[in-house]
Parts: sequence; structure tokens; C-alpha cells
Amino acid sequence: MSIFMRKKKRPFGQLALIGLPVLAIGGGLWYFLSQKPAPAPVAPTPVVVTPPPAKPIVKAVPVAAKPAAPVNTSSLPLRYQGKTFKGATEVFTQKVVALTFDDGPWPVSTLAILDILQKENIKATFFCLGRSIHNHPELLLSVAQAGHVLGNHSWNHPYARMSPKVAQAEIDNTTNLMIQTVGVKPELFRPPGGKLSNGLAAYAASRKYSIVLWNDVSGDDQRKTTPEMEVKNVLTHVRPGAVVLMHDGGGKHPTVQALPKIIAGLKQQGYSFVTVPELLQMEDEQLTKAAIPRSPSKVYTNQLPTATPAPTPAPAVSTPSP
Ligand SMILES: [Zn+2]
Repeated sequence: MSIFMRKKKRPFGQLALIGLPVLAIGGGLWYFLSQKPAPAPVAPTPVVVTPPPAKPIVKAVPVAAKPAAPVNTSSLPLRYQGKTFKGATEVFTQKVVALTFDDGPWPVSTLAILDILQKENIKATFFCLGRSIHNHPELLLSVAQAGHVLGNHSWNHPYARMSPKVAQAEIDNTTNLMIQTVGVKPELFRPPGGKLSNGLAAYAASRKYSIVLWNDVSGDDQRKTTPEMEVKNVLTHVRPGAVVLMHDGGGKHPTVQALPKIIAGLKQQGYSFVTVPELLQMEDEQLTKAAIPRSPSKVYTNQLPTATPAPTPAPAVSTPSP
């Protein structure tokens, strides 16, 4: 038993001595070999996000520059913008009259007229020449500060047909000088001599001026007219909504002498006094109430009746120096 035991023990012992390491190595080897290599880290499946279709790049296409439309800054009722006005229509019944004075500002006479109007508390409308303003800006300031309305009467008082460029200069230069001098942009234009076909009225209409004529002629620009005749002329032809044509510029006129009597006579007939824009406003309200549409008058074709007196003479060349 003991041998057996020994025989049995020895090989076992030897075996154990040899086998165990082998076993260990083998086991280790087997273990090593049996181990699958760690799978390579798998990158998480990317979530495929389909990008939205790229928007086409829209280049800003430069818009073709359109000629800027003139901004309508007129405060006048629409029916008179760019239209002729020669006194209220026959349906107008209010006893008001608009006194107008042309060709100034002028030394002596303009201030004399301003003095009369102030005493009577009357506001009037002055259609001024650019060259007269150029000569006497301080007088234009006096007119404006007294609260009267200023209108454009061109620069040189031309009658002859002119190019659009010249017409533009006549009107724009006068308006610009008014703005520079008194800060007022005129909305009324009175064509020299009432002429509507020489290019001035057409340009003024295109700029939305109201083309203001008259229907009560004082005749103060006629050499033969005396103050008494002037008074009679105005009082004879006055009617509701009349526009009276007189002059504060251009030389010696009977108006300074006639004006107090004209005013007194008109008051006696029950008239009160308004500026041209006030008259336009009053007539517009009345026409609107009566549902009467815009005036059918056309600037380009209107001609004054042949009975209209001779056009206003241009101021003398020998303009008094300031
Ligand atoms: Zn004139």
C-alpha cells in the first residue's frame, strides 16, 4: 500500500509538479487564446439627419432706381393742385373776396400796402417775383411776418414761350429763394400776364402748384388808371369768391391811394377778406357738399378770354437799388 501509495504518490507528485505549471500555462494560454479580441469599439451609428435642401442663395437684385415721384406736400385741396383757379365758381355764395398783389416786393409801395392791410386787419396774397425778392429780401420778410400768403410769380416775369428747363429755373429758383429768405414754400403760382401756354404754367402744374388767375381786374397796371377808376373797377366786378388783381410792385401804381377806398367799398357791400388758400378751402367745402367733382379746367389749353386786359408789365429794368 505504501509502495502503491508511493508509486501512486510519486507520479502524482511529479505530475503535479510538472502538470500544474503546464496546466496553468496551458490554461492561461487557452484562456488567452479563447478570449476573443475585444471588438473594436463600434462607433454609435450616427443618426443620419438629412439636411434640409440648401436654400438657393438669393442675391439681392438691385431694384432699378425709379425716378422719385415728387412728394406732394401741398396743403391745398386736391381739386386745385396743378389746376387753374380764377375765382370761385358761380355756385359759390359766400361774400368773401381775396385781394392779391403782384410783382413785389417793392420799395415804398409794398410797405404802404402792408400798412393799410394791417390797419384793416386784412390778410392778402402776394405773388412775388424772384428778382424782386433778390433785390429786397427784407421786404419779403415784412410781408411774411405780417401773416400774408406768398405765391410764386416766376423770377423774370417772362411772357415768351420757353424751354421746360428755363420754366423750371424760373419757378424753382423763386421758390428756393422764398424758402431761404422767409422759410415759406409757396403753393400758388400766378403766371405773368396770365399766360398759360408759354411753359411756366405747365411746369407749375406738374409740381402741384395751384395756378391762380383772377376775375376782378383793378386795372392798376394801366397808365391811364386813376385811383378813382381803380376803385370803381374793383367794386363793379366783385362777386362772391372773387380774386382781385392788383400790384404792389413794378413801379408807380394807383393802388396805394385806391386800396383804402376799395376795402371800404367792399365792406359796405358786405364782403369780408380771405387769402387765396382760404378761398380755395371754402369753395372746396362747398363743392364737396354739393358733390361737384374736380374743376374741368385744364392748364395746358386754358386761355384767358380776349377781354382780359393787357398782361402785367415786367418791373422796369432800372430796379431801385436796395
Ligand atoms: Zn406780374
